[in-house]
Amino acid sequence: MQRRVAIQISGIVQGVGFRPFVYRLARENHLAGYVTNTADGVTIEAEGDLAAVHAFLARLPVEIPSLARITRCTVRDIPCTNDTEFQIVASRPGGRMRVLISPDVATCPDCLREMFDPRDRRYRYPFINCTNCGPRFTIVRDIPYDRPRTSMGAFPMCPDCQAEYDDPADRRFHAQPNACWKCGPQVELWDREGRRMDVQDPIQEAAARLSAGEIVAIKGLGGFHLAADAASDQAVERLRARKRRWEKPFAVMAPDLETIAACCELDEPAREQLRSVTRPIVVLPKREAHRLAESVAPSNRSLGVFLPYTPVHHLLFAAAAFRALVMTSGNLSEEPIAIANDEAVDRLGSLADCLLVHNRDILLRCDDSVVRISDGKPRQLRRSRGFVPVPVFLKEPAPAILAVGGELKNTICITKGTEAYLSQHIGDLENLEAFRFFGEACAHLRRILEVDPQIVAHDLHPEYLSTRWALAQRSCRSIGVQHHHAHIASVMAENHVDSPVIGFALDGTGYGTDQTIWGGEVLIAGYAHFERAAHLACIPMPGGEAAVREPWRMAVAYLARHFGREFLERRLQLVEEIGRGRIETLLRMIERGANSPLTSSCGRLFDAVAAVIGIRSHVSYEAQAAIELEMAISDPDREVPPYPLRLLRDREPWIIDTRPLFELLLDDVDAGAAQSVLSQRFHNGLIEILVQVAVLLREKHRLDRVCLSGGTFQNVYLFERLIRRLRDRSFEVFTHAEVPAGDGGLSLGQALVAAHRAVPSP
Ligand code: ZN
Ligand code: ZN
Ligand code: FE
Repeated sequence: MQRRVAIQISGIVQGVGFRPFVYRLARENHLAGYVTNTADGVTIEAEGDLAAVHAFLARLPVEIPSLARITRCTVRDIPCTNDTEFQIVASRPGGRMRVLISPDVATCPDCLREMFDPRDRRYRYPFINCTNCGPRFTIVRDIPYDRPRTSMGAFPMCPDCQAEYDDPADRRFHAQPNACWKCGPQVELWDREGRRMDVQDPIQEAAARLSAGEIVAIKGLGGFHLAADAASDQAVERLRARKRRWEKPFAVMAPDLETIAACCELDEPAREQLRSVTRPIVVLPKREAHRLAESVAPSNRSLGVFLPYTPVHHLLFAAAAFRALVMTSGNLSEEPIAIANDEAVDRLGSLADCLLVHNRDILLRCDDSVVRISDGKPRQLRRSRGFVPVPVFLKEPAPAILAVGGELKNTICITKGTEAYLSQHIGDLENLEAFRFFGEACAHLRRILEVDPQIVAHDLHPEYLSTRWALAQRSCRSIGVQHHHAHIASVMAENHVDSPVIGFALDGTGYGTDQTIWGGEVLIAGYAHFERAAHLACIPMPGGEAAVREPWRMAVAYLARHFGREFLERRLQLVEEIGRGRIETLLRMIERGANSPLTSSCGRLFDAVAAVIGIRSHVSYEAQAAIELEMAISDPDREVPPYPLRLLRDREPWIIDTRPLFELLLDDVDAGAAQSVLSQRFHNGLIEILVQVAVLLREKHRLDRVCLSGGTFQNVYLFERLIRRLRDRSFEVFTHAEVPAGDGGLSLGQALVAAHRAVPSP
């Protein structure tokens, strides 16, 4: 009995080896027919024995290539034609192709096997790749995605490579970056002035220098890394000094999962992330006996680790027995990652001892992605290499909108139908280099998506460079979106929630509709509108931005608010450390209201508590005090009573008053309680008041869906326990997974809010 079926597949099915896969699968099942790319995906017709067609249909969705993603698949029976062969049919010319570019992909096991096989023609070739792996997004200049429009265009294929490229049965069929020793890119070792060093094997030599404690700039997929031996305190300290990055943890690349398991606690979801083709940095609990240099991640219970993802990485680890290598973005702190060889010599020459470069251009910067598992799910902390440009799939189609994100950890987002494309991590726009990168990213994303959005969504902060850029796009309609509304809309979007929710938006800074700085917000929010239902009490931020770098200022502001000058008489380490003189000056500043903008920021409350209990009075990177306050909790499963907070409901929005919290906190400090207990009581207090607010808002608004967003939710203790407590009270809780809870996810929310305002729903 013969059967013929027509199968329509859409999703990420082009440029990922989908047709060769279908071809092989059809041949294995002795089917006839064809597969071809179409405007919205792939069309297959398959004919053969009933059981064989059945087997084919069963295996197709489960065995798809690692990069493919099926969003829709329809199958219908059609009359048999009795053809005898299965073919890959060239894409029909004329029809507009929607070729979705794949992200960059870690070297696959097949390529690794070849690379370490002395008999293979690509033995030790540092740019080996195939249809299942290799560079993609970062080498594309324009679409459609084929070799001349990538930075591989400069390397004409040799006859052997061309034959593989042309053979439908070959695993390098239409692999655009296909290359070998004869025809492809090569590596070189350069000194810090950019002179080529005459060495036999540049990778071997780089590994030897790393072993000797040197710092090597290594050109990777989306930019340069600065590498150092992670087992050597001396090497890591040298890197810190040169990079002027004193305390912020470094991520380390380890050769294999066993090594990672020796340094970190590793569960199955984490293993899966580490091994996945996206190869993100995974933040894991660090083991006591981690056997790495202490300076890799000082004062931190976590460690960011990842596995090698390019042939060069694998060759480095094969060349020397590193326990792990620090692999940090090749930049001075907070500047964009360097990508061009001459740029690297300029910018990294003073940071590195030598540079391992190659002559395949990186056309688009793309940092490593960072993921953490919390509440059982991988969560994006920084969504970049390996994930971009895979879209976030939306529930409803949206008009074409360009959302320009916030200021820090900027990303942009373009919506196209039911897909929202977020850019890679662009960085902090206060930095001019980053702002240039922002412009490039906007232009590039528009080009590869072939959309020209007429609406641009932006933050309300008038001074953000992204806002100013948006308002300067005269031909576009601009729509301003409140920061915390965008946060909540972002969680709603990725979870396909479309009715109003109770939204907790907790973070460091966001411009409010009343010109104060918000950040401890409870909203009743839909996409088009929101209402500020409750917030942390407003406190002056003496010195403005200086208060962000110096948490002691927030401590003084909170203590003065609650106790007047009385707190100066308490035995506080803070008073001793900072000195009465400076505190008096600050108090006068607050009294006069000079340069002391008001804020309801949750991040600043964490800062204040961290400073009061003596964890940190100054920080050297964003959110450091809050992170170390969380890290102070040494026994998270111990039960400690929450500090009380008070909800004032005599006005709207409701105010969360912190006075009772600080009263008990000071008593505990006086009594000499451990930092761990103080921190945990504070966290528990915050959780309890948020649950209480949710319960009261449920009564008032008949809503039982809660959305959590904002950078504060990168705090795992707070995040996991708040979710648990809300679920205990029968709330349905929605959280971020695909996009960051921090400002990296803001652009998605901005786009969705703008979409609903641009096209009002009936
Ligand atoms: Zn491969
Ligand atoms: Zn070749
Ligand atoms: Fe934010």
